[in-house]
Amino acid sequence: MILILKSNPEKNKVDDLLNRIDELGLKTHISEGMSHTIIGLIGDTSRIHIDMFESLEIVETAQRVSESFKAANRKLHPEDTVIDIGATSVGSNVFNVVAGPCSVESEEQIIEVAKAVKASGASMLRGGAFKPRTSPYAFQGLHGEGIRLLLEAKKETGLPIVTEIMSASDLDLFADVDVIQVGARNMQNFELLKELGHCDKPILLKRGLANTMEEFLMSAEYIMAGGNQNIILCERGIRTFETKTRNTLDISAVPMLKKLSHLPVFIDPSHAAGISWMVEPLAKAAIAIGADGLMIEVHNNPAKALCDGAQSLNPTQFDELMKDIRRRVEFEGKTI
Ligand code: PEP
Ligand code: MN
Repeated sequence: MILILKSNPEKNKVDDLLNRIDELGLKTHISEGMSHTIIGLIGDTSRIHIDMFESLEIVETAQRVSESFKAANRKLHPEDTVIDIGATSVGSNVFNVVAGPCSVESEEQIIEVAKAVKASGASMLRGGAFKPRTSPYAFQGLHGEGIRLLLEAKKETGLPIVTEIMSASDLDLFADVDVIQVGARNMQNFELLKELGHCDKPILLKRGLANTMEEFLMSAEYIMAGGNQNIILCERGIRTFETKTRNTLDISAVPMLKKLSHLPVFIDPSHAAGISWMVEPLAKAAIAIGADGLMIEVHNNPAKALCDGAQSLNPTQFDELMKDIRRRVEFEGKTI
């Protein structure tokens, strides 16, 4: 349920209202807009009569929110969520490009890629230290050492770092990481999501391989229910009957998620396509449809990459793409 307050309500009346909601065992989410304040009631409101709130002097209207996602719902929070990360901000007028290798392989590799993507205009560095591989015999990542190398690359370039967590028991290793990524395969690892709800770092949450947008938003809700409101949704392609591409980029997820939710939405064209030449057209589509940013895999030697080489751009290809991205982003009235 949401309560839209009349403009300039008296503070003591708002406090009384909040106390009353608290006594009902509900949590609140307050959104202060330009003209109105909206109080979102989070919890089981099914037995509460709407008149109970509508009759209050400071309440203009009360409405039920039928969707199961509440904190992530745009009805509770009409303005876009903006997340400050280092020198950049996500969800604002700035279009962010997160770039880097699928996995951190060595100090030379990550420093070289970090310098290259920074020079081309990326605002964050990605690199997997814990890799969710289909085969247990494939390279699993450098784990704590991988995070240490990412932090070295951050020291060299100043780029905030984004890296994937697979288990809450590794959380201590992520203390200096800027953005924690939850991969497609863990989108419904509810215990992990609950733990991340208690941490104060932005979460880049990737859509599961076969999950609906509703399920995707409910996963964001798990994190938000714990208190962490800073979530970036990332569409990375879904499983369909098609085999020509690694996944099928669900481009329609961008306008739909942005309509339903106030959270920023990124596109990952690399995992969607699985083929390096297709990263460019999909990236252009992402900008045109209103995505807030991109996540792109870049490797200094894709042919030798230990993971996802076929979909990785080399630094020269990335630089070319960034020139094009910059023009298109500026055409959309945003900055990069
Ligand atoms: C990745 O970003 O390297 C990755 C494993 O992505 P996803 O979870 O989308 O497959
Ligand atoms: Mn990858």
